[in-house]
Amino acid sequence: MEQCLFCRIVAGEIPAEIVYRDANAVVFKDINPQAPVHLLVIPVRHIARLTDPEAADGKMLSQVFTVIQKMAAEHGLEEGFRAVANCGENGGQTVHHLHFHILGRRCMSWPPG
Ligand code: 5GP
Ligand code: ZN
Repeated sequence: MEQCLFCRIVAGEIPAEIVYRDANAVVFKDINPQAPVHLLVIPVRHIARLTDPEAADGKMLSQVFTVIQKMAAEHGLEEGFRAVANCGENGGQTVHHLHFHILGRRCMSWPPG
């Protein structure tokens, strides 16, 4: 997946403000933040989108969710935050490596655009 932007960030080929990394997940700041805190939490393994994980990815994805918890605790999001995974063209996904946007420290509205 050498052409994938987020795989290249994981590999260190493209710079990013990485705030956390372990064997399963990498977290970095969104280049175009939409809230005072806007992090992207991604699996290290290239999975294109939310509909693609396989049963064998279950444990790894639960660890990704543990990282989301950790990020919320470490970035002052105790009062709540928005976690978003845009999926596919109609979902507004522009980078085809699964990622969870973590948006916080402002009040979110609903419905999203
Ligand atoms: P999507 O639209 O796929 O849900 O989200 C992709 C996100 O990746 C966008 O919020 C966009 O700002 C962010 N993004 C795109 N290119 C880069 C980049 O090179 N570095 C970082 N840190 N974020 C990026
Ligand atoms: Zn990738």
